[in-house]
Amino acid sequence: MTAPRALDRAEIDRVNNALEGADPEGILAWAAARFGQGLTFATGFGVEGCVIIDMLATNGLQVDVLSLDTGVLFPETYDLWRALESRYALTIRAVRPTSVRLEEQAAEYGPEPWLVDPDACCQLRKVEPLRAALTDRTAWISSIRRDQTAARKEARPLGWDERFGLAKVSPLWRWTDEDIWGRVRTRSIPYNPLHDRSYPSIGCAPCTTPVAAGEDPRAGRWRGRDKKECGLHAPLPLAVIKGAAS
Ligand code: SF4
Repeated sequence: MTAPRALDRAEIDRVNNALEGADPEGILAWAAARFGQGLTFATGFGVEGCVIIDMLATNGLQVDVLSLDTGVLFPETYDLWRALESRYALTIRAVRPTSVRLEEQAAEYGPEPWLVDPDACCQLRKVEPLRAALTDRTAWISSIRRDQTAARKEARPLGWDERFGLAKVSPLWRWTDEDIWGRVRTRSIPYNPLHDRSYPSIGCAPCTTPVAAGEDPRAGRWRGRDKKECGLHAPLPLAVIKGAAS
């Protein structure tokens, strides 16, 4: 596998202009051709992730798919994991924390470490394991959409992820809820039943609550805290992107 190579701003702009009118499957096909085996998809099994898995499978795109198993996902999420593997005849790689077990984390932070320091918990259980899993990759697919949060409104089809040293491909960047659920219905794509119980955004069980009508879709994530991202998709200053060298 080729070593990760930074994209320069000119290539990012050129590709984004070329992919401006492409549909998600066109963006995925471009990414599979551009990055080959260096491309991976890390999904948290949100409905967008299920849609991307369906797109990869129906278009015969052989892309590595992984998921972060923090050990504290909802039972419904683990069931969905198995359902997707069965429906699409694929293996979704489980990426688990290796540097610290849940018991060790609890010994340091208490029995509910996510309440004491959720940033540290996400770092240990999500960011570091993902970083290790991505070391030999050159690009990753993200399921973010620009209408989800203010922090995601700058999403484009292609970006450079300085945190992980990877190209970041966002095929659903322009899709809406309506687009996503239309595809789910048309293709009978498996999805997390918690979505039907007022959980529009689903993360780890201890850090996810249902939302009330009219609330922001991500209001149930780390409810009562300023935290809105787990550290995997937080935006970078433009200066960092500009500084990416080829
Ligand atoms: S979402 Fe909560 S439980 Fe999951 S890694 Fe982050 S802080 Fe820990």
